[in-house]
Amino acid sequence: MYALSLVFESASRENHFRHAIMSEDEVGGWLLCNGKPPPRFNSRAYRRLAGQSAWFVHSFIIVPNHAKEPKTSWSIWDWTEAQALAVETAKAQDCQALPFHTHPNGILEPSMNDIAFYARNSGGVFYEFVIASSHPLRLAAWSANSRATCANGKTADLAWANFVPWRRLVLRGIVK
Ligand SMILES: [Zn+2]
Repeated sequence: MYALSLVFESASRENHFRHAIMSEDEVGGWLLCNGKPPPRFNSRAYRRLAGQSAWFVHSFIIVPNHAKEPKTSWSIWDWTEAQALAVETAKAQDCQALPFHTHPNGILEPSMNDIAFYARNSGGVFYEFVIASSHPLRLAAWSANSRATCANGKTADLAWANFVPWRRLVLRGIVK
């Protein structure tokens, strides 16, 4: 059972995000999320479907990819500055900033580099990040701790959240 699930606050926000990450290059930034369900959202019915607490994506920030090989990696001009911007923007919107980047090849498992990168930049023992792909839109939220060194599906120290696309919410009558 997943500890958490990820849902966009609306179908249009989900669609904006899908378009924003549709690229042959890796795209990254931060998702601005909180636990407050959007209006018209039947959270009781949602819990029946998902059986866990949801994390709602209300907004997102895209940071230009400055990696030398952007098709296979994502890096930015200054992680600390960009993160400060994301955290402050999130705070102003009563959200928390959750870092993400895409894997255009559709593989949602983090690479060893990903784990090392987020571990180095998290400043804490536990850290979370999302890997996304756009066709179809899928998000995997990974929660790791400082001992996590594995990759390629070996996930002993990793747990991931379940992404629930808006289409499924509508089909299940979860949007009032
Ligand atoms: Zn990656």
